[in-house]
Amino acid sequence: MSKKIEELKFSGEWDLAPAPESTNHISVKKEYQLFIGGKFVKPKKGKYFSTINPATEKKLSSIAEASKEDVDRAVKAARKAHSGVWSSTSAKERGKYIYRIARLIQEKSREFAVIESLDGGKPIRESRDVDIPIAAAHFFYYAGWADKLNYAFPNQNPSSLGVAGQIIPWNFPLMMAAWKIAPALATGNTVVLKPAETTSLTALKLAEVIQEADLPPGVVNIITGAGATGSDIVNHKDIDKIAFTGSTGVGKIIMKSIAGTAKKSTMELGGKAANIVFEDAPLDQAVEGIINGIYFNQGHVCCAGSRLFVQESIYDTLLRKLKDRMQSLIVGNPLDKNTDIGAINSKEQLGVINKYLSLGKKEGADMFQPSCDIPSKGFWCAPTLFTNVSQSHAIAKEEIFGPVLAVQTFRTIDEVITKANNTPFGLSAGVWTDKGSKVFNLTSKMRAGVVWANTYNKFDPTSPFGGYKESGHGREGGLHGLAPYLKF
Ligand code: NAD
Repeated sequence: MSKKIEELKFSGEWDLAPAPESTNHISVKKEYQLFIGGKFVKPKKGKYFSTINPATEKKLSSIAEASKEDVDRAVKAARKAHSGVWSSTSAKERGKYIYRIARLIQEKSREFAVIESLDGGKPIRESRDVDIPIAAAHFFYYAGWADKLNYAFPNQNPSSLGVAGQIIPWNFPLMMAAWKIAPALATGNTVVLKPAETTSLTALKLAEVIQEADLPPGVVNIITGAGATGSDIVNHKDIDKIAFTGSTGVGKIIMKSIAGTAKKSTMELGGKAANIVFEDAPLDQAVEGIINGIYFNQGHVCCAGSRLFVQESIYDTLLRKLKDRMQSLIVGNPLDKNTDIGAINSKEQLGVINKYLSLGKKEGADMFQPSCDIPSKGFWCAPTLFTNVSQSHAIAKEEIFGPVLAVQTFRTIDEVITKANNTPFGLSAGVWTDKGSKVFNLTSKMRAGVVWANTYNKFDPTSPFGGYKESGHGREGGLHGLAPYLKF
């Protein structure tokens, strides 16, 4: 079977004509400033860094680097806006502003999607169909909650915390900004947000939207920079809450920095999810779920199903189907609508992934990659699958954050629960089976914040998301996502 697909692929019958998304409707400025107090302002130290397109390695723009003084300016603007305007703006009015932001994101969704793919390397199909609609949906959802906080938390008289410092990663740039900003505004807080240094563009475009929505100056401040800027936000004395999404390593540094202060925190950190396939599962659907679970967004997903557990009796069949499906994945131009796997976000991240590929082979696992054409320029990794993997292998224990799947087998439900829970992480998991009872048995015993049954990587603003153990604490999304921004 796999040979047949290979033949079709190389005979050209399998090829799809290029379908690139046009970039004519977007404009990327040569230089971006900091968004503080409702205005775009130059960084005090006059420093800028480059953001590049990871698919071509070409520079897209220069981005302002916020210094400690700039962070202070942004926090002061947020404080002034909180005490001067936002905390006394009626909840109904707050909701209207958030609703307006949602509508503007929807209106400009094509622009947002193309910029996200250019700057981050993700396939346009994902930025268009997943990232941007979910970002808009978060604003819509939390717009609805703004004037219903007393129903969400009856008899508790909730009030805002004040100024929230929010730091986000590069894998879902606009979506993560929405997950942070929307609940903060709905609960009456003001915000200083920093996007990741490799993907600042859609956050800066969001700053333009916020200006257009006429949000009072200083309610949302968006400042750019790398880890040092993030650290300056974390350590600023006048911040009431830190909302961080990123690696467990940086999460631990932040928790140490704020220990003993009055700052509240939510930490959305790394993961090493188990995706479990039982012998009674619908195998073709499971294969699609596995592919979506790990190769979606180049595996740059905190909840990626990077550990696959297959019941022994179906191992050969499932692996054959999985490898066949991998042969048909298209790696390449993120702006092409047929692309399944886009560019790795940065040279550094490609280095990390390649290190794990070498380590996996060195530790004795067998590596499989389908034959696929990889562009010569840019940062790329073919979808990769490791078999002959043991629990002690680094590829089975550590977060790789790339399109790399480690496959293991199991015989019984107890065995797979033990193996799946044998990780310091606990963000998400997947289970594939025909039996509802098995799903409930497993989900109640898995130490994971989200468990998908017969599906994978599904997000919804009404549903809380967050981790156990070293995957962090606190929840984003749903009613649960309001509480971390409130005092009672
Ligand atoms: P990262 O931790 O390197 O960086 C995240 C953000 O923190 C960036 O904006 C970065 O500039 C900033 N930062 C770096 N050092 C800092 C410091 N000392 N103080 C304050 N801020 C600092 O993570 P990344 O490589 O951008 O993203 C990948 C990681 O994010 C993965 O581990 C992934 O699992 C995790 N993630 C988790 C979730 C979730 O919801 N749990 C979602 C997406 C990504």
